[in-house]
Amino acid sequence: MTLPWRYLPRTLCLETSSPRIPKKCPSPSLGAFWTSGTKLSLHTKPRMPPCDFTPERYQSFAYTRVLDIHEKHLSPALTTYFPEPLLLHQGHMEWLFDYQGNRYLDFFSGIVTVSVGHCHPKVNAVAQKQMGRLWHTSCHFFHPQIHEYAEKLSALLPEPLKVIFLMNSGSEANDLAMLMARAHSHNTDIISFRGGYHGSSPYTLSLSNVGLFKMTLPSGTGCQSTMCPDVFRGLWGGSHCRDSPVQTIRKCTCAPDCCQAKDRYIEQFKDTLNTSVAKSIAGFFVEPIQGVNGVVQYPKGFLKEAFKLVRERGGVCVADEVQTGFGRLGSHFWGFQTHGVLPDIVTMAKGIANGFPMAAVVTTPEIAKSLAKSLCHFNTFGGNPMACAIGSAVLEVIKEENLQENSHEVGIYMLLKFAELRDEFEIIGDVRGKGLMIGIEMVKDKMSCQPLPREEVSQIHEDCKNMGLLIGRGGIFSQTFRIAPSMCVTKPDADFAVEVFRSALIQHMERKAK
Ligand code: PMP
Repeated sequence: MTLPWRYLPRTLCLETSSPRIPKKCPSPSLGAFWTSGTKLSLHTKPRMPPCDFTPERYQSFAYTRVLDIHEKHLSPALTTYFPEPLLLHQGHMEWLFDYQGNRYLDFFSGIVTVSVGHCHPKVNAVAQKQMGRLWHTSCHFFHPQIHEYAEKLSALLPEPLKVIFLMNSGSEANDLAMLMARAHSHNTDIISFRGGYHGSSPYTLSLSNVGLFKMTLPSGTGCQSTMCPDVFRGLWGGSHCRDSPVQTIRKCTCAPDCCQAKDRYIEQFKDTLNTSVAKSIAGFFVEPIQGVNGVVQYPKGFLKEAFKLVRERGGVCVADEVQTGFGRLGSHFWGFQTHGVLPDIVTMAKGIANGFPMAAVVTTPEIAKSLAKSLCHFNTFGGNPMACAIGSAVLEVIKEENLQENSHEVGIYMLLKFAELRDEFEIIGDVRGKGLMIGIEMVKDKMSCQPLPREEVSQIHEDCKNMGLLIGRGGIFSQTFRIAPSMCVTKPDADFAVEVFRSALIQHMERKAK
């Protein structure tokens, strides 16, 4: 394990495993921000993989009218990507088409949501059939779609996680999980990581620890943040801490089966337990990999120890699988499985229904009973026939098309290619992730680890879009690019994405050199 490398003496950055990195420290002059292996001015617009789908002709509002309506009638709190936001018209699997018929490779899938592909034919057919049969009943009546779905979903979770509550959004799911944790434990305090995001409802806002979403007015009470064990940007981290084919460029002196970074972060967790919460707590909420914070991974073994500490205090452990669930991480169907832990409550949304509003909380019979004793939980749309039919079709497609395996294979392939770019470009500080959840953290230089200024990241982002690649952003400083395509993507798609990203970085360097 090493000290944070922004504090390292300059000479320590000499070591590198990549033959493409020049064996010298980055010089502060602009010309040294890329390596000798990078060819300038030779980039051409990368060629998109073919797509045999033809979109319909756009026949709706003109762009200027859309802008006008947006400004006058839609929430000013909504943020859009790009100075000239994209007006999208149609989607087909991993592809999106704008109102002018331009095609984009969608590598963010509507914020990690379109799990099996835009307008997937099987999911569409099921939705259309159900639409003609029954849209809505209420929880006061039975309809077979909810029972079919409950049986299918529960089969994918280990014992004793077998009782399912259905609702419409990730925030609602985490709201309910907070109630459950408190009802079951008879305690109030809940802990979550700094940088963690669990929703924007008034209740979950107090769990989400991303400054941008924090209110100046008081939100819920009883939630405490604790240090995020971020092995790249955090205080400690080394070269074999995380569960990913790509490790940080920090050096490490730990033996293979020990992780001092994990031990130090656990000390911080204990500190929070000893100083900031009551002796008995309600629970701990955690994303197996942080999404909004820029695909942040924790040291291996951290969650196992943290869960034990939480349970010793009477709390329940909640895995927020809103982004990490449904096979996206490749090696496992659920993110908690990648940490070797068994949560008491699992929350899920986004990819659960490929973009149709749906969410779920899964828990043990015991915790479900504790909730039922405290209140009659009711949700008008939760578990409606449309959502359940679509959710069932999504589960079938993931299985039939081996999408978890595809996430694993294409994910590793792409991670390794992006890791090569990290070796090539000084402004890529870290490449991380698992399966099809990848983060690329942009820095001023590898030694300072300072975030690349937002406007520079935005320009690279825009350049990618102009070459036909849509990717996401994350991190407290919006410094991390997030890649989380639908799980149907192919290796040629990944090659195109890597090529576009590389071209955008070269364009960036050329701008800086002028
Ligand atoms: N949890 C996580 C991990 C999320 O990423 C999000 C949404 N970004 C939520 C909860 C909230 O979900 P929703 O926007 O559907 O309320």
